[in-house]
Amino acid sequence: MSNPLYDALFGKYASAETIFITTTDGRDITHRSFLSTSARFANVFANAGLNKGDRVVVQVEKSVEALCIYAACVQSGLVFLPLNTAYTQREVRYFAEDSGAGLIICDTCRQEGLQPIARDISALLMTLNADGSGSLADLSLAQESEFNTVEAHGEDLAAFLYTSGTTGRSKGAMLSQNNLLSNARTLTEYWEFTSKDVLLHALPIFHTHGLFVATNIVLISGASMIMMPKFDVKAMLKKLPDATCLMGVPTFYTRLLAETDFDKDLTREMRLFISGSAPLLAETHFQFEERTGHRILERYGMTETNMNTSNPYRGERRAGTVGFPLPGVELKIVSPESGIEVQRGETGMIEVKGPNIFKGYWNMPEKTKAELREDGFFITGDLGKIDEDGYVHIIGRDKDLIISGGFNIYPKEIESILDKQGGVLESAVIGVPHADFGETPVAILVRQPDQEPDPDTILKHIARELARFKHPGKLIVVDELPRNTMGKVQKNQLREQYKDLF
Ligand code: AMP
Repeated sequence: MSNPLYDALFGKYASAETIFITTTDGRDITHRSFLSTSARFANVFANAGLNKGDRVVVQVEKSVEALCIYAACVQSGLVFLPLNTAYTQREVRYFAEDSGAGLIICDTCRQEGLQPIARDISALLMTLNADGSGSLADLSLAQESEFNTVEAHGEDLAAFLYTSGTTGRSKGAMLSQNNLLSNARTLTEYWEFTSKDVLLHALPIFHTHGLFVATNIVLISGASMIMMPKFDVKAMLKKLPDATCLMGVPTFYTRLLAETDFDKDLTREMRLFISGSAPLLAETHFQFEERTGHRILERYGMTETNMNTSNPYRGERRAGTVGFPLPGVELKIVSPESGIEVQRGETGMIEVKGPNIFKGYWNMPEKTKAELREDGFFITGDLGKIDEDGYVHIIGRDKDLIISGGFNIYPKEIESILDKQGGVLESAVIGVPHADFGETPVAILVRQPDQEPDPDTILKHIARELARFKHPGKLIVVDELPRNTMGKVQKNQLREQYKDLF
């Protein structure tokens, strides 16, 4: 029976004794043993009465068995819905209710708290712990290690990934088998993954980056992965010599650079460092190259679209850019007001179209209509521009745009100047309420270790470089910026914190 995503990612390995995952505690998991566990899980789900299309909410720690749930869902035609382990009960209730989950899987320590939720929506509740134990594992012991793959079509839904919901309610992005498969195939080819690769996997598996980009590529290419339960810079230094590739968020790279024994020798087996999910500072890119001889390859994607652009594997990887649209992806920059394409080099809204673009937001036809155009272009909410050589630059989120006295201010323009100032490691510019101008920019500067930026000198410099209306009303020096697990700066937190400055 055909199930395109299962067949391409998993089915081909049914009896393969090749290594899929090496854990940091030294276990080698073969494809065959991985698939027999996932088939047992699939049998548990089927015997519990779950049917094709049912949603499975999964809030568990990263583990081999957690990935088996993903494989089991694909094999059973169930919709996989992974959740950030940081979400509270109240948040999980929203995701479970909104999606109409048929099954919730959580760590035993959360079971009691989630029981009332499962009861209220008549969902099943099973447990899976970081060490692989739990009621799901117990139930699976009595099951067959083979499962009749449920027939599926490329347009069938494979997963819901909820957006981080920094503006209003979190939305469930519906991803089809084809969305995931087409992107995984494109990236495998574009980044030249082969069965010789060993990916150092330190990203969470509830997010598109660690789940779909990392895992699906490894499976499509026949590569293997070293699975780290979480990012830990010291543990990473130990494992780097065994790996050929790393996928990370920018924080991985800044933390590696902060380690004095991180050097060329440790990265001798590496062929590729990939960064995404948040902007990589050009400075980090250059420092990394100086230290290791490797140029980090930066790419751009999002929950709703999978990956859209990438710097080239073989051509010039240009710092501060996210490269070119991937094969099969159309990308244009339009005026946010008119939706008409702007001139090359001008800033506007990034819109993308391709087989990677999601099917819409679950239960939110209005939101879907507002963001997904009838001609298939998705309005990303990211502002960007395309330079004379075709490289795409991300200027920032639409909602981060500051409008001061009627003038548009792109925080990135100010941030890139601030980042170059003495004593400044990085910066974030936000708009705060202002009686006269509506909003005015404020700059939060992160000090370099053991250095102190001088606000007066910096303001003088800004005055020479930028129009008056773009000058930050205040410079605030801090030790670090608030970030989420994917390394994204939480500007909404900063806006809240500094809302009463003027
Ligand atoms: P998420 O849906 O959590 O993956 O977040 C997607 C958002 O992350 C995008 O819309 C961008 O705003 C941001 N993003 C992802 N990759 C990059 C990148 N390489 N540079 C700048 N921003 C990025």
